[in-house]
Amino acid sequence: MKKMLALLLVLMMIFLLAACGTSSNTTSKKKVGIAMPTKSSARWIADGDNIVKQLQAKGYEVDLQYGEDNVENQIAQIENMITKGANVLVIASIDGDALTDVLQKAKDKNIPVISYDRLIKKTPNIDYYATFDNFKVGVLQASYIEQKLGLKEGKGPFNIELFGGSPDDNNAFMFFDGAMSVLKPYIDSGKLVVKSGQMDMQVCAILRWDGATAQARMDNLLSKDYTNSKLDAVLSPFDEISIGVISSLKAVGYGTPNQPMPIVTGQDAEIPSVKSIIKGEQAQTVFKDTRELAKVTVAMVDAVLSGQQAETNDTKTYNNGVKVVPSYLLTPVSVDKSNYSKILIDSGYYTADQLQ
Ligand code: BGC
Repeated sequence: MKKMLALLLVLMMIFLLAACGTSSNTTSKKKVGIAMPTKSSARWIADGDNIVKQLQAKGYEVDLQYGEDNVENQIAQIENMITKGANVLVIASIDGDALTDVLQKAKDKNIPVISYDRLIKKTPNIDYYATFDNFKVGVLQASYIEQKLGLKEGKGPFNIELFGGSPDDNNAFMFFDGAMSVLKPYIDSGKLVVKSGQMDMQVCAILRWDGATAQARMDNLLSKDYTNSKLDAVLSPFDEISIGVISSLKAVGYGTPNQPMPIVTGQDAEIPSVKSIIKGEQAQTVFKDTRELAKVTVAMVDAVLSGQQAETNDTKTYNNGVKVVPSYLLTPVSVDKSNYSKILIDSGYYTADQLQ
């Protein structure tokens, strides 16, 4: 009888331990907090979707939040992720300078942080940076203008106006510097003329990358400097800015055989812009495959959560004011009418129907 009881006790203990094991397995799912800047642009929706899909496939629990371009909102969302027990944070900042305090809170709880696409500045508390070669984005935009105008062949002078991205986003400066590395020599030699005289990033910048703000700036430039001369090119860093610029240009008669559209660049291969390229209005965009960015980020998440070093390919470029952040840079691709089908449809990023 005693033996029977002892056996029963042992069996019960085994059962209890097994039950504990299962419940700790389910509660030990690691949580990834993801803070994205805005849903107003399709690019960030694709980023969110891709990264969630890939993390969930690996068994992570995911908390994805969009800050809707409101800095305080984003800080509150990150604080909430920390409170709810996130094991790691992935953040595409709205204002790269505004997260110092909240990331100290993450550090106090030993939560690793991955800076996603945009560099978070003024804090030691980020572990990795996953992004594209941002300088190259600007080089691709400007080289397209250089090629289409025949600047290398000595053609010109041509009129150009310059647009920059949001001044609270480090990427905006990288894009602008990359573009100016190509354009500046032609501006200096007089083959490119910026009639407005507005050539500094600070004056060309468009807060929060807003298309309507860009359209208003283009309206002003056109009425001030181009009533008696034509504009040949516009450096635009982002598709929504390009769409705003193109609306303004159309309103004063550009886009006809007599007054052809200037060469307008862009970035992100957003659907309205790809359609505009197919129509022959916007000339170019820069495609950044968000599926690949998600892949690199998920590998970083895996690494930091298992105490391993993540793979990086750049440990020099991205100084955030406190430290150089180890980064993985992906390669951006220039897209225009001649290659959009191969780059965007054949790769499965869009279906042909989406671009009709
Ligand atoms: C991103 C770009 C995007 C822009 C506006 C930048 O930080 O790198 O891809 O066009 O933000 O959303």
